[in-house]
Amino acid sequence: AKSNGKNRYQFYDKKMTELAFERTTLESNLRKAIQNEEFEVYFQPKIDARVDKVIGLEALIRWNHPELGLIPPVKFIPFAENIGLIIEIDRWMMREAAAQVLLWKKENIVCGKLSINVSAKQLEDDNYVEFLSQKINDIGIDPKDLEIEITEGLIMKHSLHVTSTLNAIRELGISISVDDFGTGYSSLSYLKRLPIDKLKIDRSFVKDLPHDKDDIAIVKTIIALANNLSLELIAEGVETKEQRDFLLSEGCHNIQGYFYSKPLKVNECREFLLNYM
Ligand code: C2E
Ligand code: CA
Ligand code: CA
Ligand code: CA
Repeated sequence: AKSNGKNRYQFYDKKMTELAFERTTLESNLRKAIQNEEFEVYFQPKIDARVDKVIGLEALIRWNHPELGLIPPVKFIPFAENIGLIIEIDRWMMREAAAQVLLWKKENIVCGKLSINVSAKQLEDDNYVEFLSQKINDIGIDPKDLEIEITEGLIMKHSLHVTSTLNAIRELGISISVDDFGTGYSSLSYLKRLPIDKLKIDRSFVKDLPHDKDDIAIVKTIIALANNLSLELIAEGVETKEQRDFLLSEGCHNIQGYFYSKPLKVNECREFLLNYM
């Protein structure tokens, strides 16, 4: 069974490479995917480890390709960004994820804040804030229940336009989290300039906790930074009890990662949420 799985992987990888080679094929495949509803929202729970409660869900996209099967976002998001299709995809995600979370809230299922990943292209789009405020109204979700995750690289690269967009998003009542914190450029000055609510400690600093001395120092420093700037904090990619216990004892109590749950399909996530109430 193992070698079979490996072969399938190689086949899949080869297929993907062929697809990527033929950009027009991938592009038309992606366009069709939107029309044919081949995308699916997965949700990964975020947990307050002090009390073992769900504080939020991160929406993560999956592509169910009719022939190639499940395609992870790293295989198509960068391409979708290049050809500008990411705007449509991210808008679809936002609508779909928010509508689902609202359904759960109507069932009185506690799911906390919904986090959406927003690409640079989306944030540069002049109509994005208008889209957001319209969707919030259409769907009827409370903006206090919404958070966007933006990467540090994006902030540094697009600082001028991004500032006004982020301010407008914040004015809508949506909170803003810096994803992959610590992996972008070294300047921290944007933390002063921009309306940031939360830092997400990147998985690369969590991976070798609590053994790697450098990672220990970096994580402790980020925790102190967040505390001193009154920013919320979460760690991603937490896979082991050791990592969780270390982060909790150092004061980072919000945890996301396989230790609690991998990203889940809608019905799996509902079960998870019910178990955590
Ligand atoms: P990200 O935002 O940093 O998301 C975290 C990634 O780490 C996810 O991969 C998640 O499945 C994975 N992960 C979560 N917990 C663990 C863990 O404990 N261990 C390990 N090894 N991995 C963990 P995924 O779902 O493949 O997404 C990859 C990236 O694709 C995301 O990174 C995000 O940048 C992007 N992405 C996903 N969905 C969307 C979307 O709807 N829109 C945009 N623009 N980007 C998206
Ligand atoms: Ca993210
Ligand atoms: Ca991340
Ligand atoms: Ca990361």
